[in-house]
Amino acid sequence: MNEQHPTSETDVHYLDEEIRSVQESGILEYRSGQLPTWCPGCGHFGISTALTEAINELSIGTHELCIVSGIGCTGRYPFFAKAYGIHTLHGRSLPVATGAKTARPDLTVIAATGDGDCMGIGIGHLSHAARRNVDILCVMFDNNIYGLTKGQTSPTTPNLQVTNSHPYGSPDTPLQPVRYALAVGATFVARGYSGRPKDMQTLFREALQHRGFSFVHILTPCVTFDKRNYTYERLDERVMPLPKRHDYSDYHMAMDRTIDEELFVGLFYKEDRPTFSEQMDAYAERAREKK
Ligand code: SF4
Ligand code: MG
Repeated sequence: MNEQHPTSETDVHYLDEEIRSVQESGILEYRSGQLPTWCPGCGHFGISTALTEAINELSIGTHELCIVSGIGCTGRYPFFAKAYGIHTLHGRSLPVATGAKTARPDLTVIAATGDGDCMGIGIGHLSHAARRNVDILCVMFDNNIYGLTKGQTSPTTPNLQVTNSHPYGSPDTPLQPVRYALAVGATFVARGYSGRPKDMQTLFREALQHRGFSFVHILTPCVTFDKRNYTYERLDERVMPLPKRHDYSDYHMAMDRTIDEELFVGLFYKEDRPTFSEQMDAYAERAREKK
């Protein structure tokens, strides 16, 4: 039986209620005319919905929003959203997002990037956007595989995981995105899971309200090409909230949490530091004084 199809009058009524509540929530305002082309069950649906809910909660208008992406299944996201959208080259969402935010500081700028896009060819850009504290939100959709190109090993694929490019198990040590973002100076670092949409929505809302570079790492199943590691079943078991005693203002504690075996979700770290635009304004001021 397909559980997605109504089987009784009660189910039909329930669906009607669901549809009405989505219509009334206002999030449909943020949908473009194009239906998502992601595979049924892909975690990217949950991420885009949680992001849209957070944007709606903050009353950010579609004309005040710019979504920038690179290449991969995540790269398609701007097509499905009603906002300014830029689909850039592989790994280049962050420099383009930096340019967009610098030219139009009034816009809310979101860089949507995948594990291959962000941790592979684009990793250098992550370091520089983070250290400069560019006031943008970077959402990394991490399914630990190259999905669009059909299941090859990515920079976050675990050692010995069998993939289409490594049928005898990946020989590499995976990168840890949260640890990396902390190491290069991101001022807001969090992790969510696409199977827990309400928690993701809270993280996105807080990240969008943060002044500076926000990096939100989302664990998300690629239901088509990863049947072993980031499945909903395994992530449901492994993901757990950060301990209540976690202090997100403590950098060393945040780093220590990334070394623990557990897959913690929540806000790891947050600090206030001048943004890239503020630093550039101060620089221009110094230059004027010297003349
Ligand atoms: Fe999602 Fe994987 Fe399908 Fe891409 S290939 S849309 S990541 S399930
Ligand atoms: Mg991927």
